[in-house]
Amino acid sequence: MNFADDRLMRAKQIPMREVADRLGLSLTRITAQEWAGPCPGCGDGGKGKRADRFAINTARGVFNCRKCGAAGDQVALVSLALGVAFKPALAHLMGEREAIPDPAAQEQRRRQAAAQEKRRAEVEAQMRARAIRDAREIWTAAEGQDLRPAQDYLAGRGIRFAAWPPTLRCLAAAPYTRKIGGSLKTFHTGPCLVAAVQDGAGRIRAVHRTWIDPARPGSKAQIFDDQGQALPAKLVRGSKKGGAIRLTPAPPAFGVLIMGEGIETTASALVLGAVPGAAYWAGVDLGNMSGRMIKTPGARYSGQPDLEDLEAFVPPRDLSRLIFLMDGDSDPAATRARLLSGLRRACVQTPGLRAEIVAAPGGRDFNDILTGEANHE
Ligand SMILES: [Zn+2]
Repeated sequence: MNFADDRLMRAKQIPMREVADRLGLSLTRITAQEWAGPCPGCGDGGKGKRADRFAINTARGVFNCRKCGAAGDQVALVSLALGVAFKPALAHLMGEREAIPDPAAQEQRRRQAAAQEKRRAEVEAQMRARAIRDAREIWTAAEGQDLRPAQDYLAGRGIRFAAWPPTLRCLAAAPYTRKIGGSLKTFHTGPCLVAAVQDGAGRIRAVHRTWIDPARPGSKAQIFDDQGQALPAKLVRGSKKGGAIRLTPAPPAFGVLIMGEGIETTASALVLGAVPGAAYWAGVDLGNMSGRMIKTPGARYSGQPDLEDLEAFVPPRDLSRLIFLMDGDSDPAATRARLLSGLRRACVQTPGLRAEIVAAPGGRDFNDILTGEANHE
């Protein structure tokens, strides 16, 4: 073994936690072996952003950033943080002080990182635009198609609309396609309920699809991957952030908006006629209804909205009352915190808004109440 190999071996024996400390990284423990925080390379995961993209694993002696893709061992972490090549990074790690980088090299590294971040943002914007295009193509393809499979599915759950919402369509033979290991794969083809997800201005930004089992009215299709694992029967394509599935038109000025997470919950409340004259929109998912939240130590969901999240869902500004429906079949504390975040955000936008959570009684969901049955999943 030559001298350089020996040095590398000794460098790899330095605990990852110690390397992070010596580099002055600000990390928070997220599991027994993992510490997360802002990435020293791309800077992502800083204040107000998702802080778990950069993490070190002390058991395995590695780090990785899910944003910029940087990953590796102790030497690689020094190299990333100080913006130097392998040799000076190794020298620095082994305490050889002359290897500390000069400011010009650090400045160049910062410029490179900024350029890389710009490229990443461009790629992300392109992918989002592509997803929205796809969503609109799916929506257009469903135009004028026979609604009966979708109507039978909802009727099987006790949901019969007085007027069919124009935001719901049906596809007779929709491929259920997901990206597995970089390539697209179709696991199922069958009828699906297609719902338009509209932004605040009413533009379609995504489609929410529910594959249904035409042989069992009220039931979703059972879809499995190659390993026999069940896949969710619902998929969203496009950009759902800030959007809603409008089962009724927008509420009038000083009106009431009732929002559940899913189509079935919200439609059940509509059919039950909870509040006459109210508008009923589905929020697509809890994360969309809550928007980003401020992090507080020790709590997964603080219930406090991060008001810098400008893409989060907010209801029409002239609303007088906003009701979020809470199904009893999920983790109550976490669900409530997420719903509170969304309601508080809406109240900041519309002072004087009456905002409340209405929970389905007895641990049931609103569709159970409509049908009087125990469970549908
Ligand atoms: Zn990074």
